[in-house]
Amino acid sequence: MKRDIILKIFILYLLLSFPAIVYPQEKFTRTLKLMGSRFDITVVAGNEQEGSLFIDEAVAEITRIEKLISEWDTLSETSAIIRNAGIQPVKVNKELYGLIERSVKISELTGGAFDISFASMDKIWKFDGTMKKLPTDEEVQKSVSKVGYKNIILDPEKYTVFLKNKGMRIGFGAIGKGYSADKAKQLLISMGVKAGIVNASGDLTTWGTQPDGSPWMVGITNPLNKNKVFSWFPMAGNAVVTSGNYEKFVEFNGVKYAHIIDPRTGWPANGLASVSIFAPNAELADALATGVFVMGRETGLDFINQLPNVECVMVDDQGKIFKSDHIGLNTIEK
Ligand code: ADP
Ligand code: MG
Repeated sequence: MKRDIILKIFILYLLLSFPAIVYPQEKFTRTLKLMGSRFDITVVAGNEQEGSLFIDEAVAEITRIEKLISEWDTLSETSAIIRNAGIQPVKVNKELYGLIERSVKISELTGGAFDISFASMDKIWKFDGTMKKLPTDEEVQKSVSKVGYKNIILDPEKYTVFLKNKGMRIGFGAIGKGYSADKAKQLLISMGVKAGIVNASGDLTTWGTQPDGSPWMVGITNPLNKNKVFSWFPMAGNAVVTSGNYEKFVEFNGVKYAHIIDPRTGWPANGLASVSIFAPNAELADALATGVFVMGRETGLDFINQLPNVECVMVDDQGKIFKSDHIGLNTIEK
């Protein structure tokens, strides 16, 4: 009898202490399209049903953010800000306000290389195959004249955002995916998910480890051959984001014009094929990847080397690899 009780207590102790022994943890992944991009969400959970439930929540969170920051949804607060450009400040919720405020800080940090008001350009660059000729210098100059983060006026007491000039726009193309990956991760952690990956088309953030205790390994695409991974990195609770010129671009007279625009000139940034940024969160990594892509190799590397906890690997258009001072770049497979 006594032995029975002791045995029961022992089993209970085991159950409570090592749930993973009793319910082996597995990883579950779902791939879907959100924010116009491919997302792969991976969670470690006890069974498929549980994993699927967690992933549903992450999807709902990303969908919520998509609505918040959409420039196309006429009901979004972002659209209201754009509609009222040059007219009046618009009160927005704290979350959107915070994202805009941090975006402006990153503009200041990057000397305007990253700038959400890049969206004010009258769509003279199109990367959907509809562009038939290069714009003239004049057209580019005219179109870039409305761009300028200094004309995003924020009131931290009233939570208002005012785009000073008529026709000004903002767009979260270079930070929204990172932000939503962070938020989905935070939500999953708050629900008790011990480990996972939110991967927004290569903008990804991880937490915990794989079920067998080994670190998540993340491959970075070789920008010169996008079907090949050129390097694998172990990830430990941080994020990596890659901005490249190999997915959205147009070509005129043998020159590639890609979707990252230098907000100061209105011309697509050139010189680099890809920039991968490692940072504590995906939002920062996303914005910096775009900013550094615009800054170019030398300025970009100097800049990253001055930031704590941020590292960078870049590939120039000749295929040469450069990295920030403190990164441990391991196997490079070409
Ligand atoms: P991807 O969307 O391929 O991950 P990025 O994160 O670099 O790549 O974002 C590129 C997108 O950001 C562009 O498609 C555009 O919407 C927007 N963008 C382009 N240039 C800039 C810039 N200099 N600053 C802020 N956003 C930009
Ligand atoms: Mg980006």
